[in-house]
Amino acid sequence: MTAQIINGKEIAEKVREGLKSDVQELRENGIVPGLAVILVGDNQASQTYVRNKQKACEELGMHSILIKRSAELTEEELMKDIQDLNLDDSIHGILVQLPLPGHINEKKIIEAISPEKDVDGFHPINIGRMMTGQDAFLPCTPYGVMVMLEHIGYELEGRHVVIVGRSNIVGKPAGQLFLNANATVTYCHSKTNDLIYHTKQADVIVAAVGKRNTITSDHVKDGAVVIDVGMNRDEDGRLCGDVAFEEVSQKASYITPVPKGVGPMTITMLLQNTVKAARKSKELQLKA
Ligand code: NDP
Repeated sequence: MTAQIINGKEIAEKVREGLKSDVQELRENGIVPGLAVILVGDNQASQTYVRNKQKACEELGMHSILIKRSAELTEEELMKDIQDLNLDDSIHGILVQLPLPGHINEKKIIEAISPEKDVDGFHPINIGRMMTGQDAFLPCTPYGVMVMLEHIGYELEGRHVVIVGRSNIVGKPAGQLFLNANATVTYCHSKTNDLIYHTKQADVIVAAVGKRNTITSDHVKDGAVVIDVGMNRDEDGRLCGDVAFEEVSQKASYITPVPKGVGPMTITMLLQNTVKAARKSKELQLKA
């Protein structure tokens, strides 16, 4: 079998087309969806991510602001920035670019963001809402994975999904979203004995590890769907995922490439969450 490619770039573009008209409609009703990004320090990768997020906002006609702070910023000063944004009616989504410098407690910072503006979906309130099946801002990367599968019309009910990786931002929430979609979920991680035993049983494998070639053709049963969240560099400095793409493509039914796979979906879901936050703020205004 040769796998069909799930083209995240194309799917992201389609979703963004839809968002463009949502933004237009909100603007006609007096609301310009606004995203604020706080960037602390001068991490190169973070600067690129932030630039891409801002560019994406502008392309959709959204308002976006960037607050750049030095790596010496204190936790109290960062908290003050967040409190100001929590109260700013022109801002519907707040994102603090991670990682933060070591002297700042990330958990405390995430919890300071209003859950109604937590468009990253990292606040414990949103995680709790997601776990209990309530309306929530979903973490962008796992959310993007679900939209990709929906896009190819893949029916998850009753399927066995094996998630490799259990981070709070990707692996764990991905498993929860699959469970919410009535799949049967297995989590694997660095302490899992016999990874191949588990992944071989999967109808869907989600690799979110951060190590090249974690998933090879030996890990995959014929016809499985393979989603590669990983973002790594090969020996030539090229972007690659966690999956040995060439050999796994020979066995899988569908596969996401890296680049042009999950990556473009992540920013798109951030925009989607910001538009949703803006729409909710409008509903609250109407109720008041
Ligand atoms: P983390 O480092 O936080 O988590 C990695 C997970 O992989 C951990 O749960 C770890 O287990 C597990 N793991 C490590 N080694 C193995 C192994 N040999 N076998 C099985 N499991 C293993 O990473 P993130 O979740 O933040 O990110 C994962 C990857 O996804 C990275 O490459 C990252 O760059 C990428 N990423 C991509 C995004 C996108 O938009 N495409 C967005 C976010 C992340 P344990 O818990 O036991 O340590």
